[in-house]
Parts: sequence; C-alpha cells; structure tokens
Amino acid sequence: MAVKKSMGSLQPDFEHQFILHALGDAVIATDLDRRILWTNPAFSRLFGYSPEEALSQTTSFLYANPGNYEEQGRFRYNLEAAPDPHPYDMLYRKKEGGTFWGEARGATVTNRKGERIGFMVAIRDITRRKDLLHALHTEKDRWFVTLKSIGDAVITTDEHGRVVYLNPVAEHLTGWTTDAARDQPVEAVFRIVNEHTRATADNPVERALSEGVIVGLANHTLLLSRDGREFSIEDSAAPIRDDEGRIRGCVIVFRDVTEKRRLEQRIAHQANTDALTNLPNRHLFQDRLSRTIARSRRSEKSFALLYLDVDHFKNVNDRLGHPFGDRILVELGRRFESALRKADTVARLGGDEFAVILENLSDRTEALTLGQRLMNEAAASFRIDGSRVDLTVSVGVALYPDDGTDMATLVRNADIALFQVKREGRNNIQFFSEEMNRIVQDRLAIEADLRESLEEKNGFFLLYQPIIDLGRSQAVGVEALLRWRHRLRVRLPEEFIPVAEETGLIVPLGQWVLQTAIGQARSWLDRGFSLSRMAVNVAVKQIHSDHFVEELGSLLTEHRIDPSLLELEITEGTLLFRDHHTLETLKSLRNLGVRISIDDFGTGYSALNYLRHFPVNTLKIDRSFLNDMLSNHYDQAIVRAILTLGQSLSLDTVAEGVEEEDQARFLKENGCSLVQGYFYSQAVSPERIEPFLSGPDPMPPT
Ligand code: C2E
Ligand code: MG
Ligand code: MG
Repeated sequence: MAVKKSMGSLQPDFEHQFILHALGDAVIATDLDRRILWTNPAFSRLFGYSPEEALSQTTSFLYANPGNYEEQGRFRYNLEAAPDPHPYDMLYRKKEGGTFWGEARGATVTNRKGERIGFMVAIRDITRRKDLLHALHTEKDRWFVTLKSIGDAVITTDEHGRVVYLNPVAEHLTGWTTDAARDQPVEAVFRIVNEHTRATADNPVERALSEGVIVGLANHTLLLSRDGREFSIEDSAAPIRDDEGRIRGCVIVFRDVTEKRRLEQRIAHQANTDALTNLPNRHLFQDRLSRTIARSRRSEKSFALLYLDVDHFKNVNDRLGHPFGDRILVELGRRFESALRKADTVARLGGDEFAVILENLSDRTEALTLGQRLMNEAAASFRIDGSRVDLTVSVGVALYPDDGTDMATLVRNADIALFQVKREGRNNIQFFSEEMNRIVQDRLAIEADLRESLEEKNGFFLLYQPIIDLGRSQAVGVEALLRWRHRLRVRLPEEFIPVAEETGLIVPLGQWVLQTAIGQARSWLDRGFSLSRMAVNVAVKQIHSDHFVEELGSLLTEHRIDPSLLELEITEGTLLFRDHHTLETLKSLRNLGVRISIDDFGTGYSALNYLRHFPVNTLKIDRSFLNDMLSNHYDQAIVRAILTLGQSLSLDTVAEGVEEEDQARFLKENGCSLVQGYFYSQAVSPERIEPFLSGPDPMPPT
C-alpha cells in the first residue's frame, strides 16, 4: 500500500482514501509505535470515536483488555512476521462501553526505500459469527456430554458405514474403543446375531444408509462383543443428514436389555412351568397341544394324547404327608420324561394328573407301548428317605385324528378314557371309544336328573327285602333297598349310586333313605308289626359328612326308634383304608347304639385284621359266594370260614342271595341263622313285606 510521507503522516493518497472510505471494515493507520494517524468513516461507525478523538492515541484504548500483552504481542508478531498475515480475532471496546469481536487484518507499511514506517489494520465486526460459533461449540459440547453420560450406547458412522464414534456405553458393550474402531466397517464392531439361531442378523446400518429410513433391530438380537461377551440388545439405526438433506452417516442407538430379557424369560418360564416338577404346566401344555394339532394337520400324521392319574394318590399324602407326596410327584415326572422321546411333551396338569403328547405315531400300538412304558415307570418302587412306596397309574388315550381333531374334543375324550379306566378298577390303559362316550353322556344325564329328583323329592322310593331267621323260620327284619323312577323306568342302585357317590349327591340322598326307612319302621311298629332290625345301606362318604352322627341321633329320637333296631350296612370295599376318621365315626355310631354291618363281606381286601379295629356287629356274606357254593369247594370253604369267623368273634352272619332251598339247608347246617334271598322274597313294597312281619308263619307258599 502506497502512503504519502509528505505530511509526516500515513495519510493515504486520494484514490486510496476513496476506497478506504467506501469499505465496511474499520481501517486504522498507525506509526511504528501504534499511534493512530488516520481512521476511515467505518472506524467511527464501529467504535463511536470521531477521527479527532482517535488521533495520536495508541491502539491499546480500543482493546477490551488493554493489559492483555499476549494479544498485543501476537498483534506485533503477526504484523512483523508475515507479509500477508492471518486474520486474528480480538475483543474490542466501543466508545459507549460495549464490546464486540473483531477480526483484524494488518499489514506493515513501507516507504519507497522499503523501510517500515507504520501499520495499516482493517477490523471487521464479527460478533454475529462469533456468537454463532460459540453456540455451535456449546451445542457440540452438550452433545458430547450427553453421549458420554447417557445409559444408551451410540455408534456413529460415516456415509460408507465406517465407524466414526462410539460413546462410552457403546465402547463397553462392543469391547471396542473409539480409536480402535474408527474407520472399521460397522459390522466388524457392531456384531449382531439372532438369539435363537445365532445366524448373523441384518445390520440395520446398511438399510438406514441405503434407504434413508429409521430401521429397528429385529427382536431377540444378541450383540457379540470383541472380548466374547454377549448382550441382548434392542433399538434402532437412523441416517444422519446434513442441511441439504444428504445422508452423511448413520447413528445406531442401542440398549443392553439382557437383564430385562432374563426377567421376561423367567416370568414366561414361571407362567408356563409347574413349580414343583419343573414340567410344562397346563397353560404350556395347551399351547403345545394346539401347535401339535396344527403340525399334524399339515403333515397328516397322527398323534396321541395321554391323560395319566396316579391311583389313590390321596392315600400317599394322607399316610406319609404332603412333602413326601410332592417328592414322589417330582420323581414321577422325571421318570416319565426320561422314558419318552425328546420331542414328546410331558406336562403336569395339577395334583397327581399328568398329560403326555406323543407325536408322529405310526399306529395305535406305538401309543400303547409308550403308555405301558409310562405305567411301568410309575410301578417301579419309590424309595424316599428309607420309605418305600408302590404306585400304579391309570392312563386314558385319545388319538388324533380318530378321536378328535380339535383341542377340546381330544382333551375331553382322553379324560373320558381315563375316567373309564378308573371306573374299571384303575392301573390300566385304555383308548377312548364311542361306547365310553355314550356311558359318560348317560352318566352326565343321570347326574343332572338325580339333582332334579332330589330337589323335588320325587322319584325315589324304598323297597324292602326280609331278613329271615332260619331257626325260627320268620323275618326278624328287613333291608331297605333304594329305587329311582327315572324316565319311565325303575332304576336299580347300580345305575345311579356310583354317580351319586362321585358327585357327593349321596349325602342328601342317603339322608332321605335313612329318614324314610326310620319313618317306615315307626309306622310298622305303631301298627303292631314285630320288627327287630331295619338294615340300611350307607356310603362311606355319607357317614363322613358333617354332623352325620348327630343328625342320625335326632332322627331316631324324633321317631322314637331304639338305635339298636337300626343296622347300617357299609360295603367292605369302601372300608379298605382303615383311616382314623372312619374309625372314629364308627365308634360314635356304636356309642349311639346303632349296629354296624360289613356288607359284601369277602369281596373287598379281606384284610381280616381290620375286624379287630372296627366296631362291627354283623358280616354279610356276599351273594357271589352262594352262587356256586354247592358245587364249588372253594366257595363252600370260604362260606364255612366266614361263618366260623363270625361265630368266634361273636358276630352275626347274614348270607345274601339265597335262591334255592339247598343253599338255605347248607347254611343252616353250618351254623348260619340269618339269610336273605329271592328264595324267600325279592325286595318289595312296604305293603307286600307286611305278611312277612306279622304272621307266625312268614314263609310264602313255595
Ligand atoms: P346289597 O346291600 O348287597 O343289597 C343286596 C342286593 O342283592 C340287592 O340289590 C338285592 O335286590 C339283591 N338280592 C337280594 N337277594 C338276591 C337273590 O337271591 N338273588 C339275586 N340275584 N340278588 C339278590 P339292589 O337292590 O340292586 O342293590 C344293590 C346294591 O346297591 C346294594 O347291595 C347296596 O350296596 C346298594 N344300595 C341299595 N340301596 C342303597 C342305599 O339306600 N344306599 C346306598 N348307599 N347303597 C344302596
Ligand atoms: Mg346291603
Ligand atoms: Mg351285599
């Protein structure tokens, strides 16, 4: 820049002044000591000083921090060192006190001889730019602080999918540092696989970059870290765009959900697993069953559904306690599982009930074989804490598609088959059949009708069969036998008593029987008939019902019946288990004065030692022994034995089912005094029994 030396100042010549006047930047000319010699109008506009006010002052008064020698030193250095020095930013002060950032560009002014005579400085107000930069800096800082402190992992890449940055969480989860990862392809750093298949999962970065969309990670994604750890992760990748909307990179944000997933899995496990045996529970079983149905429908293969129930498991619990019973169930589940193929399902449905799904069967025999294998597993002795327990199981089988193609039908039919096994004495395996189905349907109908009849106190009536004293040739009493008028037919007890027992309806029904029989006895006695025994059949469930003994006592009092007139008949089979409860009840009945008779004697367990414990008055020899008694030596021997037993224990013995005179004679010869049977009379109405009770010669003409 040419400057006139003539005025002893650095006044620019005219044409230069013209340019400097027009400039938007403030321009100052100084001597070597930085004393101001000249300013342009933009200087006055920017700083607020008139040229006169500025003249002869050193430039220091323009600085916001005049003592900042470093700044000033740089100023000098810049000017001296570089002919075209870099612009530098400084904070200036205005006349009225405010400050602003200015960008200064300076140049050394030389005379014609090349001697340095002063400086020329142009200052541009850059406050706005500075603010913007500042804002950008803070923004960036804030981003970094945020990225460093958040719990989510963040990886950014450039537009080619090469790693740019990992925040600390991402570094931890991937096992890579930002430095090591920089410029690596993102797949190498962010390695993800499917949790179940362990196949490499689609990397979301690729799509985010190529399609410019936000891509969520697939569920069940595992992140494999560089050092061999694994994390369940979830989240997404999104493209990073610049102001023009061009994709400049990608950001992956992800989160370690390992704990959450573990919790989810545990909850799912709990919801689907039986806590005791760790087998699938009913819920998971249903799920498996419906899947098996769908699969078999596609493959057109058959499968079997087995329902298993431990026989008399209640007794194990009662005798050895629930914790012991639980351990047996665990062991049983384990045995079942190990006896089957990997693909088969064993579930515990609750209590002592298990269900098994056997898939891909070739035929029925295979289901039978596997079912029998399960029975064998259960039949092997359980030895726990020195105790030995032997069990049996009942198994009902329904086949897909023969016995049903939907879940409800298959389950119902397997249950029906199981029910049938139980009815027929347990410890067996049976396939569902239509015949079974019919039986069950009938049974359901009977149950409904029984309820109705009971509510309406309608349809039931008692017949009586005389009990004959062979010695005196006359009836000493009667046995009350229940009948039910149902759908135009008179039903025998065998058709409805089992249903009444299973459903508990036997309790009110039995109460009705007792009431009616006792009322009948009263009426006969009132009318002068001689009656010394009224035998009534009762079920064990009935005598176990609440207040049975008290209610019976008041019934007897109410009808003024001597308790010893009443004999309660309990079938031997139902007395199998000499439990405390039954024993106590029988004792209270005896205290009441009521007689107890063991019905169908010889058909149950014949564990004779229970006779020592049970307070019994009478043994009723079962009809089955009398059938072939005269031709079959074994039966004869049994009848004789029972009669001897009765005599030596001072018990009454009543022989049931006498149909021929020879039978009566044999019994009489062997010391049996009391008999019942068609030879004398069937069970008949109260009116028709009266001739047996009143006359001195009760025998009907033969
Ligand atoms: P139970 O107590 O052993 O009764 C004897 C059964 O044998 C009666 O059958 C009777 O009719 C039949 N019977 C008697 N003499 C002869 C004979 O000479 N030949 C043949 N073939 N049969 C004879 P019913 O009435 O069908 O009763 C069957 C069973 O039902 C009874 O066996 C008893 O266990 C039960 N039962 C009957 N009434 C009741 C009741 O009110 N309550 C309960 N809980 N059970 C009852
Ligand atoms: Mg009886
Ligand atoms: Mg009997």
